[in-house]
Amino acid sequence: MDRAVPQTPPAEVRKILRQEVNFGCPVCGSPFLTWHHFDPPKRVSPHYRPEGMVALCLQHHKEADAGAYTIPQLKALKRYPYLRNAKLTAKFNWRRQLILLEVGSNYYISPNHILRIADKDVIWISHDSFGLQAVSLNLRTANGDSILKMEANDWVLLGEVEDVECPPSANVLLIRVPKKGIRLNLRFRSLTEVKLRERIIQKCTYFIWEPIRGCISEWPVAVCTIEGVFVWPIQVNLTSKQTTGPLNNVVSCCFKHGGGLTVHKDGGITF
Ligand SMILES: [Zn+2]
Repeated sequence: MDRAVPQTPPAEVRKILRQEVNFGCPVCGSPFLTWHHFDPPKRVSPHYRPEGMVALCLQHHKEADAGAYTIPQLKALKRYPYLRNAKLTAKFNWRRQLILLEVGSNYYISPNHILRIADKDVIWISHDSFGLQAVSLNLRTANGDSILKMEANDWVLLGEVEDVECPPSANVLLIRVPKKGIRLNLRFRSLTEVKLRERIIQKCTYFIWEPIRGCISEWPVAVCTIEGVFVWPIQVNLTSKQTTGPLNNVVSCCFKHGGGLTVHKDGGITF
């Protein structure tokens, strides 16, 4: 076997390992997963055979590296993971006086709603008991069945999905439900003034940067980027280039301070 096998297993192997443990560490249920080689261990022979690997959280990966589990025990964890009846749940520890939302190529600084579709709040800002901002969102199927509910950065998976991806850095959440046409990419990052300026000027124009900078007093700033396809109550596509509502109405590179975007049933979009 080639010793130069890269550290990260291929995407399809990672997906198999996530799916077999129902997207949570098979010991404790944490969704923040890493990839443990045990049969054989990586130091013996580097490989990416899913049957000799298991997804574990960082803590239980370290315990497994130290020898806490036998090979039969790890195989049993793959067959009978922690998450069989319990729900996948976790939280983001990103709370700030101000979070800049970057949603479908528009920018928002808001004390409340960010994206409202046909009178339903889909993405909004919540406040914790210290008055700090955190992000909330509602991801549902077109019928209104809940897939993911996030309330002030605490989230719980409520529906059936094909894939959930959360690296242990705990700043990213990717959800895929292709059967229902649903996708979510959510990422928190901390950006300096220089980095944010660069990002906004590349994506949009200099003219949007100035008003955004004028609203941010503390650097680096926490930025929460949300892209994906929301189908409830009506479909809205959020990409890195634009927000597309019904009738292909498009909005991009807008900045709203103090509120959000409303997509109306008739296809109209208002700030
Ligand atoms: Zn664990």
